[in-house]
Amino acid sequence: MASRICSRCSKVINPGDLLYRVTIKVFADFDGIINIKSYTIDVEKEFEKVKSVPEDLLEEEVYKEFDYILCPRCKEVYCANPLHLPLDDLTLTEDVP
Ligand SMILES: [Zn+2]
Repeated sequence: MASRICSRCSKVINPGDLLYRVTIKVFADFDGIINIKSYTIDVEKEFEKVKSVPEDLLEEEVYKEFDYILCPRCKEVYCANPLHLPLDDLTLTEDVP
């Protein structure tokens, strides 16, 4: 089996070394409520707009998947703040194993 590369730091992960796989699925959700007051839709016009957009872009509007390989250190960093939210005064230390 060939070595792999950490998607975040590019560290070489040799066969047999611990690695982590991160799969992120982003998909459109619907709460079941249509707010009719805020929408005045011209169905014909909207359909024409949709027809002009490439199919792969339309698909990305409703579903997108990412797949990464992480080394142990990058897994810890990722799991500490997966959405990359502001940490205010907190900073990550370099001594994460
Ligand atoms: Zn890494």
